[in-house]
Formats: sequence, C-alpha cells, structure tokens
Amino acid sequence: MNRTPLIAANWKMNAPPQGWDSDESPYRKQDGVEIVVFPTFLDIRTCVEKFLVVGAQCGRPEPTGTYTGDISMELLAQHGCTYVLCGHSERRSHHQESDAFVALQVKAAMDAGLQPILCIGESADERELKQQFDVVKRQLEAMSILPSIIAYEPVWAIGTGSCPAESDVQEMHANIRSLLPEDKKEGTRILYGGSVKPDNAAGFLKEPDVDGLLVGGASLDPKEFRQIVHLVH
Ligand code: PEP
Repeated sequence: MNRTPLIAANWKMNAPPQGWDSDESPYRKQDGVEIVVFPTFLDIRTCVEKFLVVGAQCGRPEPTGTYTGDISMELLAQHGCTYVLCGHSERRSHHQESDAFVALQVKAAMDAGLQPILCIGESADERELKQQFDVVKRQLEAMSILPSIIAYEPVWAIGTGSCPAESDVQEMHANIRSLLPEDKKEGTRILYGGSVKPDNAAGFLKEPDVDGLLVGGASLDPKEFRQIVHLVH
C-alpha cells in the first residue's frame, strides 16, 4: 500500500516561525506530502484562517467540565483542528499523562472527528536496559482503539541532538507494525520523531516503515523545515 508521507511541525510553546503565513511558506499544503502544524492553542485559529492544516499539541478527553486551562477534543475540532498529538513525552512527563489517560484522549479525539497521532517511545533508562520493545508494546496495548498514525519518539532523542541509527528506527517501526491488528498493519502511518534535522531526515525517510517525520526544533526554522519537506519529493 502507498502511504502518503506526513511531515508534522511541532512548534511547542513558541510563536509561529517567521514567514509562516507567506505565499512561499513551507508549512503550506504541498503535493505528494501531508504537512501539519502544531501551534500553541493561541495560534490555532490564525493558522486555520491562513489555510494551514492544523493540529493541537494535546486535548482533554471529557467534552466539558471543571478542567481549568484545558481544551476538549470537541472544541479543538470545532475550531478547525484536523489532528491532535496524544501522549507526547513532554505531556507524559510534565503533566503526568498516563497510558490510560492517553488512551482516553485517543478515543475522544476519534469520536470528535480528529486524527490523533499517538506518540510512543522509551526513555534513556529504558533503552539502557534494552526495554524499548516492551515499552512501546505496553503503550500500544493500553489503547482501547488504535489510531491510524503513530509517532515513534524515543524520549532520549527529543531535543537532544542524539538520534537512534536509521536501522534501529526501521527495526522499531517494523516491530510496531507487527504489533498492529492485521487490518491496520498496512494502512497505519508510523512517523519518526527525535532531533530530526535536514542532514539526517533523508536517512530516516528512506526506511520502508518510516512514513513521515514529527519535527520539533527544526520545524521552527522555515529554511530547515523546507529542506526536510523537499526530501519527500
Ligand atoms: C518533538 O517535539 O516531538 C520533537 C521530536 O522535538 P525535536 O525534533 O526538537 O527533537
């Protein structure tokens, strides 16, 4: 099956990069590749109004209630989001989001008509103990329903400049695919994320089970992001 590559820009707690809304913006729709930006909640509306494909960095599973500071999946969909990240490691660590909570987010996102991107991956300690395959298995098994996009993001690679070898990424992605139900194996897109830069992106993208990239730091530099996107063409 031909899986359309997806390149996601996670802007984290940063304003949209310079030129994000220009005609030449690398964050705009392009042929042959899906591009999604993940701005802060405050910038979602402006990005939607400028016709970018937009996702939220997180969402609350409950439709409404006493959750000060949170935004529900339903509201995200109503305000023009198409995607939502679920279980990003920074949410898991800074906001104590558990596997069970992430499972609720994924389910609520799908019910609201959003496309969840489930983020999974092992910590440095878990890698040291060679537990990475057990960790992602546990994270996948916690889901009551599996989304059609998964991002493998080893926690130790996020924002650190250290990356797994391309062959290790391929091995993990093939392992993740093998854990999916038969009817989801071929159609599920598995993205790699963790210190992706223009000079290493091609190496990941050439692997058969890598269907795209989730880019943090380098997505804040329009030049670097453009170079990464061009590698897909
Ligand atoms: C991320 O935020 O998901 C990420 C992968 O960040 P970075 O590319 O900076 O490692």
